[in-house]
This record gives sequence, structure tokens and C-alpha cells, in this order.
Amino acid sequence: MLTLLCVNIYNCNMNCNICPRACNVNRTTTFGYCGKDECLQIAKVMLHYGEEPFLTKHNGASGAIFFAGCNLKCIYCQNYDISNGSGKPVTVDKLINIFKQLETAGANNIDLVTPTHYAKLIYTALKKYKPSIPVIYNCGGYESEDTIVQLAKVVDIFLFDLKYYDDNLAIKYSAAPNYFRYAGSAIKKAASLKPNQFISKQMVSGVVVRHLCLPSHINDSKQILSWISENLGNSTYVSLMSQYVPMYKAKDYPEINRTLKPIEYKVVVNHAIKLGLKNVFVQDISSSTTEFIPDFNNPGDFKF
Ligand code: SF4
Repeated sequence: MLTLLCVNIYNCNMNCNICPRACNVNRTTTFGYCGKDECLQIAKVMLHYGEEPFLTKHNGASGAIFFAGCNLKCIYCQNYDISNGSGKPVTVDKLINIFKQLETAGANNIDLVTPTHYAKLIYTALKKYKPSIPVIYNCGGYESEDTIVQLAKVVDIFLFDLKYYDDNLAIKYSAAPNYFRYAGSAIKKAASLKPNQFISKQMVSGVVVRHLCLPSHINDSKQILSWISENLGNSTYVSLMSQYVPMYKAKDYPEINRTLKPIEYKVVVNHAIKLGLKNVFVQDISSSTTEFIPDFNNPGDFKF
């Protein structure tokens, strides 16, 4: 008899094809491109005030859970300590306990950061215990449509980081072939399953598309906005980020080894206005600093 876990998140021989990497490995004995076996690893849990304001009430805190590992390997990763490193191993029941601690601490949502490679275990946890606050799947966009369909049963908000339109950039900076094809399909599927809903101006269900503008690549940013307008509609919630800071291996790529120029960001913002996008969250370009990056050497105040 098929088990509940055999629902496309892992295929029936238990090999992992959660994401477009389709490693087809058995993560009980080994690991794939993401570098993680099937044991959940958490690097930090915190009340986080840096997410988009419409995701919280009155600029309250998100209950952020930062997972270790990643299915992308972006050469400019701001969280490279944890995306390429390890975290504390936790069971599904301990993850549920973290949800409860964050609810008690007054978090406005459960913000699952870089969750893709743990989609199966997150699904299991949320089937056992659904928090009373919205659950956000905060991912890098390299998602398979099947995984999104399953997660839509337990997740309230999909927060996609849509990084690239041009596949050459996706390969060069994130080693992610066909990134846009996968990300675009996953976002369209999520939008079809999760219409936007708000209570007291807080999003409680829906889809948000984030885009981090990269220096020297504003045409790619403009193409992403045009695609959103044409495929998702001008009411889509878009977070247009200017906060890029060259980190990790970005020094080896001169064209992105600097922050974004104000004129570059202005061109992208003006394109969003020209398209008629109505719900674009724009950043102050002075946010291009590392001071907003959490300290991942400190796992936070929560017990896990
Ligand atoms: S989640 Fe990891 S092991 Fe599974 S397909 Fe993606 S990269 Fe490969």
C-alpha cells in the first residue's frame, strides 16, 4: 500500500527528487546536490523584523527558522555560512516544538527560510501540527511543480525569490540550469492554488515574488517584471530588493562585485511603474549593507 509520504515529494522508491536537481538519491544513506541527508538541520531560530511589512501585523516579527543547506549554490550568497554549512539536527517533533515556541513568543508568522530540501519533513510536521499563524515557504525559486502542489495543502504563503530570467545567469551564478523554466512554472502553479487573502492588512494566504536586483543586470530584472505582469497580473505582490552586497565568491565576478547603483534601481522601479504593477514593495537603496544579515554563529534564543 502506498504511504502518505509517497505523494510526489519523494517518489515511491524513496529517492529524492524534491527539486529540479532530481538527484534521485536515497537520503537515508547519502545526500544529493543540496548536501543534506534526510535529517532536518536548523541553523538559527529568531524573531525577525526584516521581512516585507505586509507579511506581519503592524510591522511585527516573523518567526524565522533558518535551515542549513540549500539546493542552489549562489556565488554571492549572503547566508553562505549556513547554506554551505551545517546546523543542529532536529526531529520532526522538535520542529513542531519550535513552531509552538514562536507562536508563544508572539511571532506573526512561521517563516521557513531555505526549506526546499526539507520539503518532505516540513510537510510531515505541518500535517501533524498546523500553527495558528500563517506558514510561509520562503524559497529560492528552484522548485518542482509537484512539490509545490503537495506543499500547498499545508503552507499558507509561498514567498519565491525569483532570481533570474536569463538561463546563462542562472548557470553562471547559481549553477541552476533551466532556473527560470522551473521557477516560473512553480510560481504560476502556486498562484493558481493560493489566491491572496489578507486579515487586517496582513497577508494570511497567497504568493509573493521577491527579486533581488543584481548590478549590471537590470535588463534581466526588467524581463522578470514584464513576465510577472503578463503571466501573474498587475496585482501580484512583488518585493523589489536593492540590498545586494557582494559576498562569498562575488569578488571573482567583477560585474557584480559592487552594490547596485541608485540609477540602476531607479530604471527597474520605473519599469514596474510603466507596466502598471500595483503592489510593488520598494526598498531604500541605503539597505545595501550587511548589518541586516542575521548572525548565524548565534543559533538564537529558542530551544531546539
Ligand atoms: S532536495 Fe537535494 S537531494 Fe533532493 S533533488 Fe534537490 S538537491 Fe537533490
